[in-house]
Amino acid sequence: MSEQEQNKVAMVIVAHPDDAEFGAGGTIAAWAREGWDVYYVICTDGAGGGPDNAEDVGPAARRAISETRKREQRAACEVLGVKDAIFLDYPDGQLQPTIELRRGLVRLLRRYRPTRVICQSPDRSWSPTFIIPRFHPDHLAAGQAALAAIYPASQNGWDFPELLEEGLLPHKVGEVYFTGAPVMNYAVDISETFDLKIAALRAHASQLGDRFAELEKMFRTRSAELGAKYGMAYAEEFHRSENQPPGAAAATSTSSPEATQESLAPPRPLAPTRGATTMDEGTRP
Ligand SMILES: [Zn+2]
Repeated sequence: MSEQEQNKVAMVIVAHPDDAEFGAGGTIAAWAREGWDVYYVICTDGAGGGPDNAEDVGPAARRAISETRKREQRAACEVLGVKDAIFLDYPDGQLQPTIELRRGLVRLLRRYRPTRVICQSPDRSWSPTFIIPRFHPDHLAAGQAALAAIYPASQNGWDFPELLEEGLLPHKVGEVYFTGAPVMNYAVDISETFDLKIAALRAHASQLGDRFAELEKMFRTRSAELGAKYGMAYAEEFHRSENQPPGAAAATSTSSPEATQESLAPPRPLAPTRGATTMDEGTRP
């Protein structure tokens, strides 16, 4: 087993406080329970998360909202067993997949050296129907920046030579889990951690407080529907991709003990692809 395979470090890169809990809270709690060190990177300051009809949207109000949301995010991290949350503080609502953001993410990838990364989809889905609130431009930008940081920049010393000078050696991320992707190919069993996901979401009181009961019901129904698809009580769904050269064979994950903790999607034909996207099969305990 290589050093990288033994490195039970995961990084979650998202645009806003609460994005991680919405998309992957159950998975994050499950990994933390399995001994993974999970770190969050929140790209924006969350300052745009006030009521839509607010009249005071000045700097002081924005600062107050940002501080509240960071506090709520840290509380949610505590619930899920996340080691730390790093805030990059780009202005909420204006995130762009810039070279500066990419460099910042590469710096963190090389410093923390995660085997797994959870990030947001850089693409919108038009099927079965376009859902307007699902595709906040910050989410797409965060997804695009994360993916560009993972490949090739993090693993290629020629990208951002100044980082090499900082002593940050290239690092290859092994697996990427996209939330909200147009094509999903992987499920994580969150039956044991669903309640933690709900408790972590509850920590985001400034965002969800007044409609939490309704949201919890919606999450329970949605997670159970997804679970039914995969033979689990509750599930979270991802597009999972392994970082392999084009044409490499799909890994089976059977050598990875933690893989047995996750139930996988039933075998489904994959479209022929030259890319590294794979779907693991047959590792159910
Ligand atoms: Zn968001």
